[in-house]
Amino acid sequence: MSESNSGPGVPDVIGASEAPGPNQYDFFGVIQDYLNRASDIVDLPGYIRAILSQPKNEIIVHFPVRMDTGEYHLFKGYRIQHNNILGPYKGGIRYHESASLDDFKALAAMMTWKCALMNLPFGGAKGGIKFNPRVVSADELQRITRRFVHALGSNIGPDYDIPAPDMGTNSQTMAWAMDTFMNTVAMANRAAMAGVVTGKPVTSGGTHGRTRATGQGVVHTIVDWAERSAFDLKGKRLIVQGFGNVGSHTAVLLSHLGVSVVAVGDHTGYLHNKEGFNTHRLAAYVEQNGSIRGYPNGETISREDFFKIPADMFVPAAMENQVGEFEAESLQVRVIAEGANGPLTPRGEAILEQRGVTILPDVLANAGGVTVSYYEWVQNRRSEQWNAADVELRLEGDMRAAYQRMLDFADRHKCGYRLACYGVALERLFTVYKERGIFP
Ligand code: NAD
Repeated sequence: MSESNSGPGVPDVIGASEAPGPNQYDFFGVIQDYLNRASDIVDLPGYIRAILSQPKNEIIVHFPVRMDTGEYHLFKGYRIQHNNILGPYKGGIRYHESASLDDFKALAAMMTWKCALMNLPFGGAKGGIKFNPRVVSADELQRITRRFVHALGSNIGPDYDIPAPDMGTNSQTMAWAMDTFMNTVAMANRAAMAGVVTGKPVTSGGTHGRTRATGQGVVHTIVDWAERSAFDLKGKRLIVQGFGNVGSHTAVLLSHLGVSVVAVGDHTGYLHNKEGFNTHRLAAYVEQNGSIRGYPNGETISREDFFKIPADMFVPAAMENQVGEFEAESLQVRVIAEGANGPLTPRGEAILEQRGVTILPDVLANAGGVTVSYYEWVQNRRSEQWNAADVELRLEGDMRAAYQRMLDFADRHKCGYRLACYGVALERLFTVYKERGIFP
């Protein structure tokens, strides 16, 4: 079959979605609103606000992929490069059926704030493909990934833009991405390209600790909060939405601290176990079966009931726009640590704040992933392999330091934690824009 996208019998472009429709969630608008509010607090000059309100580059590629049936499908891929004043663009690759250009713009901007808050020498980016990775074969997934990376070409690179895993992608995806990129450069330069992506398997140039890094960072944030709030984690109950990379590692690591996971949910449904799940067993089940569906040691409940389960902590670890008015009024917890990006709507957040629920915001809480990605990138540049204990110690130090920066800002400006995270990030970006000026 021809690879061209014209003529009869050619399928629609997979993933051809742009801005949100009238009933869709305006994630990018929400992020722009937080940017505006935090800009007012730090008195950010108009020209910097304008720069940060839009991504620097919006790259859209179309590429054909041969499916197992022998047919060709044309896919649409995105890479949004929000800002690179602090260093190379950095951010995940998402494969999800609901992703849109505007979602990637929102997520890319959040990466800029995250890297700035964490003091990393990176800017922000995000990208991916709007399709459901669960309905294609492993071979198809590999071909889709390789053609996507090939289509991005020199728009990514170890000194320019460095992708990583996000929803629907993992270390295997990154190994294919690195290998594809390496094969596009001159032979003598291939080994130097290992840092083109992070989140690779350890054996293929990845770092110890990256797979669980985001969950580990969520846990450091919760532990930091608990210590400062005289909140003993032992015996406390947790509910987790999303049991993929972030959700499962957070749950397992918190269970090591004596926390009981009493309800979990994913794209297939929700389960309750008031005695607490064996998180290791559940994680192994999900690893083997792809979801929590059919796990025997839990009672099936509705999404509505999940949000009403009495607990102490909630970790949203699925996707944006999950906690609106109903969920915010239903939740019976004291603290929420955002493993996912943007899980609370502004209305949901306002209700929770009014109800006295502490929110540990995404920009800090899930920044462990990009922080350990930075360690991986440094190790690749130096041809080093740090041991797991070193990675863990550094991550804890970096998470605690960022938590303190958030607290200091919140205290100084009498604002909430989310705006404080944005504020710390904007102050750093402001300083660099002032120092460097605008070309020419
Ligand atoms: P993943 O693909 O490993 O897991 C996603 C989980 O969410 C799965 O359990 C899936 O079933 C569930 N899910 C999907 N749609 C759902 C729905 N409509 N309702 C309920 N559950 C649903 O992805 P991940 O890497 O764990 O990412 C989860 C979130 O964490 C995303 O918001 C991502 O941007 C964020 N995040 C991930 C990383 C990382 O290192 N992977 C870093 C920072 C932030």
